[in-house]
Amino acid sequence: MRIILLGSPGVGKGTIAKLLSQNNGSVQISTGDILRSAIKEGTELGNKAKKYMDEGGLVPDSLIMDIMEKRLREPDCRKGFILDGFPRTISQASQLKAILEKLGITLDYVINLEAPLNVILERLTTRRTCSNQTCQEIYNIRNNPPAEGNKCRKCGHMVVQRDDETQEAITERIRVYNEKTAPLVGFYQKEKLLRNVESLKADETFAEIKTLKI
Ligand code: AMP
Repeated sequence: MRIILLGSPGVGKGTIAKLLSQNNGSVQISTGDILRSAIKEGTELGNKAKKYMDEGGLVPDSLIMDIMEKRLREPDCRKGFILDGFPRTISQASQLKAILEKLGITLDYVINLEAPLNVILERLTTRRTCSNQTCQEIYNIRNNPPAEGNKCRKCGHMVVQRDDETQEAITERIRVYNEKTAPLVGFYQKEKLLRNVESLKADETFAEIKTLKI
């Protein structure tokens, strides 16, 4: 499976990408996870990206494209990939198209996950994430809480609220999404790759995506 998951912050891209990856072995590539790991490790990329991320803005395209071109050339991507949080601008999408052409890879679909704004806001403010970079399990304090003492049920590390999940940063991320990322829906519609899928319950969304012919 070679797909892009599009959709607003909080629409469930990470959750759906994990389910698909477990189901068919395609690798989940989340630019957000790559950047958060770089920040934790204190790399040059992490230091450059941190301020944009904390404010809810986008990291410059040049930094992202460098990482992604390298990542897509790695051998595990031959099994298939699920791009989660990338591309996020028209410029990233055009550059990705050129990279895929160069590598001889065709995309199966671009899946645009959709949910009403009130659902998205509720999810973002109640979402918690495992702090272990290799786990990153996602929880929700209302309907899928972590174990006693805020511990991850999978790996036992602490479960935390992301720095960019404060009210201010969330408002900015949604504004940036509408301005810079939402136009990708039209871009991929023209490419005849777009499929809209409702993202209210993860198991139903997952089942619907599996019915697409890939
Ligand atoms: P995410 O985990 O996908 O919500 O991403 C968290 C943050 O990482 C975003 O708010 C951006 O600051 C940054 N980010 C992730 N992916 C990208 C991307 N493709 N382009 C630019 N910035 C990104």
